[in-house]
Amino acid sequence: MALIVHKYGGTSMGSTERIRNVAKRVAKWARAGHQMVVVPSAMSGETNRLLGLAKELSPASTTPALLRELDMIASTGEQVSVGLLAIALQAEGLEAVSYTGWQVPVRTDSSFTKARIQSIDDARVRADLAAGRVVIIAGFQGLDENDNITTLGRGGSDTSAVAVAAAMKAHECLIYTDVDGVYTTDPRIVPEARRLATVSFEEMLEMASLGSKVLQIRSVEFAGKYRVPLRVLSSFTPWDIDIAEEARSGTLITFEEDEKMEQAVVAGIAFNRDEAKITVLGVPDKPGIAFQILGPVAEANIDIDVIIQNVSHDGKTDFSFTVHRNDYARTIELLNTKVVPQTAATNVVGDPKICKVSIVGIGMRSHVGVASKMFRVLADEGINIQMITTSEIKTSVVIDEKYMELAVRALHKAFDLDQPTG
Ligand code: ASP
Ligand code: MG
Repeated sequence: MALIVHKYGGTSMGSTERIRNVAKRVAKWARAGHQMVVVPSAMSGETNRLLGLAKELSPASTTPALLRELDMIASTGEQVSVGLLAIALQAEGLEAVSYTGWQVPVRTDSSFTKARIQSIDDARVRADLAAGRVVIIAGFQGLDENDNITTLGRGGSDTSAVAVAAAMKAHECLIYTDVDGVYTTDPRIVPEARRLATVSFEEMLEMASLGSKVLQIRSVEFAGKYRVPLRVLSSFTPWDIDIAEEARSGTLITFEEDEKMEQAVVAGIAFNRDEAKITVLGVPDKPGIAFQILGPVAEANIDIDVIIQNVSHDGKTDFSFTVHRNDYARTIELLNTKVVPQTAATNVVGDPKICKVSIVGIGMRSHVGVASKMFRVLADEGINIQMITTSEIKTSVVIDEKYMELAVRALHKAFDLDQPTG
């Protein structure tokens, strides 16, 4: 008998029919003798609908007072789904009880709409499990120190589930979703993409941060920090498939790097179309210039990703970086008002139609020439690289958005990701 956490995403909870299916699957695990904690998302579309209502009443405001109310509203989506799932489980003949985040409680900081979990009190949940109940905990939500309801950011139920699994030292956290695992790249772009049976936590972290949307990135960070065994699998298999088969399906996030004898050099290709490039032209090349340019951007809470500074000519240089596309206009405006006058830069130019393509793999640590192979593949396709950034286990390039699919396909093939691994 093991303590297992299941997480079901919005699509898996998308209708009463789908919820009945979830209940049957959970009941199967409970009847096999496992202690079950289930963390569902809101029914698909529900969080968007709720936030849309708020937007109708206050289209532009983002004051702290408004953010507090957004969390009050958005958290109700999960409150409905936990109740429905508890009813569905009871209809299956199991004892089940649902809790909101604040009933557990799940404690967070006070950053409304993107709060971080600080602690989870599992006493109440443990008592229920000991009494033979299935416990259903609302994902995505918590309570700050002043007892305000908070939410964890979009996609935050993944993080709730992993945090519950960590707090309760669960045997495994199974993330049920509408895809059947983590792929070498998005199969909608490369039909030959393969599901990875295992992926290392570090690779998963890079892939999540680089725009592969299978898991919320914070959930992966959490899993790494607390070493939570995590598996991503499909909720669209028949609910009554053999439990041993189900427990092996999907993709397991591993922590042992040397588990696979022959590690594939590149595990996957990630891409992100949400970025925009900005260049400040003709800034003086002197100490403090990066801070003068990026300081005001950071102060405005705008995240910066890739940064490059070019060589200087006549004591002047060009400074480029990328931001989220939603922050593009705001950043340009900010630079024009706060940075250009102070630094005597000549101009600010930008391109919102770029994308970032990355190769990721812990094998890159021990293999040389992986990045140069990437550059050669792109060169052979006639794709110009605008920016490059690397870490120990990834190389990312910024290219024109219109070449994204071509680049991803070419790299996927060149690194043999369409070939089954031995
Ligand atoms: N319901 C929330 C969202 O749509 C949280 C989640 O689904 O993970 O973002
Ligand atoms: Mg999700």
